[in-house]
Amino acid sequence: MALKLAIVGRPNVGKSTLFNRLVGKRLALVDDRPGVTRDRRYAKGSLGDLELTLIDTAGFEDITDDSLESRMREQTEAAISDGDLILFMVDAREGVTPLDRIFAERLRRQPKPVVLVANKSESRESGGGVGEAHALGFGEPVALSAEHGEGMADLYAALVAAA
Ligand code: GDP
Ligand code: MG
Repeated sequence: MALKLAIVGRPNVGKSTLFNRLVGKRLALVDDRPGVTRDRRYAKGSLGDLELTLIDTAGFEDITDDSLESRMREQTEAAISDGDLILFMVDAREGVTPLDRIFAERLRRQPKPVVLVANKSESRESGGGVGEAHALGFGEPVALSAEHGEGMADLYAALVAAA
């Protein structure tokens, strides 16, 4: 199955870490859209037998003129319209923040399937954050550690079920 996956969420939850893990080193960037967006990245990747086109959003490090919120809005809107499926990532250790809720509200008002991921779940003390994420209303969150590669089988199952 081929799937275009948009990875969205507030800064620092681990979106790019997951993007890089799914892309792997052997796969080149296919389109970084220079001049169109400064910081949305596209690449081919895979998870099991899923052929993924991945869209990574944000990268606010060099933003000076636009507000964080408008920049994020623009990135997220573009990813939502491009993706077949939205991967909405939160941080299981920090729990759900007001900014996460803003993302959730937006994602509820669009028709594409959303898979909720609670990243940074490698430590068992992150259980509270997973529970809060569940309350966002996108079903049972997939507990993941993008950095350590844990939960990837659960992510695979969730993507296949949602697609
Ligand atoms: P982004 O802003 O959402 O793209 O987040 P990044 O991928 O840049 O990651 C932000 C920070 O979180 C970095 O310091 C990562 O090393 C860290 N990080 C990413 N995934 C994990 C994870 O699964 N566990 C932990 N503990 N840290 C992570
Ligand atoms: Mg990033």
